[in-house]
Amino acid sequence: MTQDLIQHIDRLIRQRPASETSLAPFRELALLMTQVHPHAKPVKIENGVRDIKQREGFPLFSKEDLPLDFDAASDLLKRFLKHLGTTDRDDSKGLRKALEKAEAGNEWSRKVFDAILRQDMKRLSQVAEGVDLDTQVLLFLGQVALRPSIHLLRDALTGDIDKNGWDYGYCPLCGSQPDMAYFTKTGKRYLHCELCGEEWPFPRIKCPFCNTQDQEKLGYFEAEEEEGFRVYFCRECLRYLKTIDQKVFEEVAPMELENLATIHLDLLANEHGFK
Ligand SMILES: [Zn+2]
Ligand SMILES: [Zn+2]
Repeated sequence: MTQDLIQHIDRLIRQRPASETSLAPFRELALLMTQVHPHAKPVKIENGVRDIKQREGFPLFSKEDLPLDFDAASDLLKRFLKHLGTTDRDDSKGLRKALEKAEAGNEWSRKVFDAILRQDMKRLSQVAEGVDLDTQVLLFLGQVALRPSIHLLRDALTGDIDKNGWDYGYCPLCGSQPDMAYFTKTGKRYLHCELCGEEWPFPRIKCPFCNTQDQEKLGYFEAEEEEGFRVYFCRECLRYLKTIDQKVFEEVAPMELENLATIHLDLLANEHGFK
């Protein structure tokens, strides 16, 4: 899986050299990810409960209750901090401080993961300030450290979820919002969960964030000379969603990579006033 990730990264950098700035640093983290093997936690969800949740629009888990291997995630976070702390970065001192905290026991990492899963940015920035790290850096490293464990859970459960019967703009597995979307070769739109990477179909003319179907409010723009990528936006809630048209590409990378490779579209969306 991670090996695939590395191959996709190398291909993307070859085909779209501008993506190197964001993908090359991630490649180093992806290599460290191969060294950690999370264990699946036992999950028991009765079919009846699962069906009711699905019908009523409740995700299978709330984010803070996800049964994840936090020890493996802590181990990975330490590896990230250790590796990055030895590189020539402006924040290497902060990274080393964070590593000290992380090595003193798993409580510090758990605080990081809890804040991320609860989306408690205030708490996360307090933890980040405590070690002189930028909150966004800690957020990114924490998210990526959680990923192998979250993907393991997703892969175990994805077959149990009736995605065609789920018409909500949030993830049927963990309730998070989408961070990307894509059109299949037949033109169907799928959303991609920002946290667990689950994908589910969603109507094309509907905003997943506020549910408006008002065509006057919905629109998209494209980056110049970049076929296959669109930024869909909503003037009702001012949110946007980067979207890939799979028809245009021979091969599409996992959405987590496409997301990193299209940061210029986020900047463009922000310039247009969307968030
Ligand atoms: Zn999810
Ligand atoms: Zn909206």
